[in-house]
Amino acid sequence: MSVITEQGLPPVTLRIGAESRARGAGVHEHVNPATGQVDALIPLAGPDEVDEAVKIAHAAFAVWRSTPATERSKALLKLADLVEEHSGEFVALGAADNGLASATGQATVTAAAQWIRYYGGWADKLPLGRITSVVGAGGNFGHTLRQPYGVIGAIITWNAPLMSLAMKVPAALAAGNSMVVKPSELTPFSSMLFADLVREAGIPDGVFNVIPGGPDAGAALVEHPLVKKVSFTGGPDTARKITAACAKTFKPVLLELGGKSANLVFADADLDAAAMHSTFMSFGIMSGQACALPTRLLVEDSIYDEFVAKIGAIASSFKVGNPLEPDTICGPVINQAAVDRIESMVARAQEQGARLVTGGARLGGELAEGFYYPPTVLADVDPASELAQKEVFGPVLAIMRFTDETEAIALANNTDYGLSGYIWTSDSRRSIRLVEALETGEVVVNGAPNAVAERPFGGIGLSGNGNEGGLEGLEEFFWTKSVAYGNGQ
Ligand code: NAD
Repeated sequence: MSVITEQGLPPVTLRIGAESRARGAGVHEHVNPATGQVDALIPLAGPDEVDEAVKIAHAAFAVWRSTPATERSKALLKLADLVEEHSGEFVALGAADNGLASATGQATVTAAAQWIRYYGGWADKLPLGRITSVVGAGGNFGHTLRQPYGVIGAIITWNAPLMSLAMKVPAALAAGNSMVVKPSELTPFSSMLFADLVREAGIPDGVFNVIPGGPDAGAALVEHPLVKKVSFTGGPDTARKITAACAKTFKPVLLELGGKSANLVFADADLDAAAMHSTFMSFGIMSGQACALPTRLLVEDSIYDEFVAKIGAIASSFKVGNPLEPDTICGPVINQAAVDRIESMVARAQEQGARLVTGGARLGGELAEGFYYPPTVLADVDPASELAQKEVFGPVLAIMRFTDETEAIALANNTDYGLSGYIWTSDSRRSIRLVEALETGEVVVNGAPNAVAERPFGGIGLSGNGNEGGLEGLEEFFWTKSVAYGNGQ
């Protein structure tokens, strides 16, 4: 692989306070997933840089928490505007980061601005506590006080860097915390522009610091004594290590992990709408590399064959290719390791009896150099098999059949994950029963949008704990102090 530099990519640096540092403790060769070529050298933070960033964030916390709430709000609202103004750049950087197709990239920018604006709106209307005194307390007076933690250590993964920033940063800053964010070394570009815009929005240097780095930088951030809470988005293996590290000092940790979300389609649903939404959500959002996607499709027996055929036809019509071409729906997957994992899981699923409807082999020809894998639909998947139980994190959809509502619920709840649940039915009483029965952090009915700013988003079980979004997402960044004033002299 040849190193190609100066490709219009922003220089990646460590953003520590006012400094933008071109050197760290190591270097990562960034590979463009669309070309398979090294296109940039990424400086990596080591434990020393993490320590510096945390100390600077700690000093800046004192400034930011005492900044008037109206000023914090104004800066975050400006940041939302700036993100929108720079949408074209973010789309290009999303493609460079991880091969994000432009249409999804544009939708991501719009969503990111909404999340930032939502929390910018809360910043000067914070629900800071409540009166706890009761009548007859003899003059005693009590209340709760919600206080920012201090430095939040945020660790994000590679699949949606801008979205992950938008889901964590404005809520933490609105609450008055400062932050050190460690993006994945695989996707550093979007975070650079985001950091520039944070500064342009008037947020003081040191309040928001970005240090691209690998697992050792993440581990140092988690362990740093001045980091008072960790907010993590990534996989369960890393989450276990982070949780174990946090357990040493009982540091609170928010975990946004993966999923194997069930999508229940009943015969009374609008089948065309269900087929389009289910297929687009499985493949068109980040080529299947997102946590909340409906990757287990459960279809009622009476419409099973017809529905599987619809899904196969739509999936095979999606254009896979250069993420910057406007009609591309699926860009590449992140790297060779992802291709290898996807290929082996698809092969094992077929060995275990699944029927290949479409896809199933890495793309060659002019796409051979990049990491392109087509939308792949597997029907008749055994609910106990690996494909039905484990997250693929790629463009692979597992379809299973059910005969009635009871079986549908049992199948839907039959994994260790609990992130999202999807329901398609025109029977509103059934949807109410299912909403209650599904063991997931969110349930969406008949194609409603998910992971939106105004509603909490988070999982249970192997999908993690805690929330981003809504008032719940803001509350993650406060601790509660209980205060009482006695009537003694
Ligand atoms: P990962 O867990 O391997 O890495 C995530 C981040 O953790 C990276 O920045 C990495 O450098 C860092 N890291 C690695 N080891 C560490 C350690 N010991 N201490 C601290 N940090 C460490 O991520 P992955 O598995 O490649 O990411 C994909 C996963 O993320 C999928 O399971 C996906 O579903 C999940 N995800 C969840 C959400 C959500 O909001 N629920 C969103 C996007 C992705």
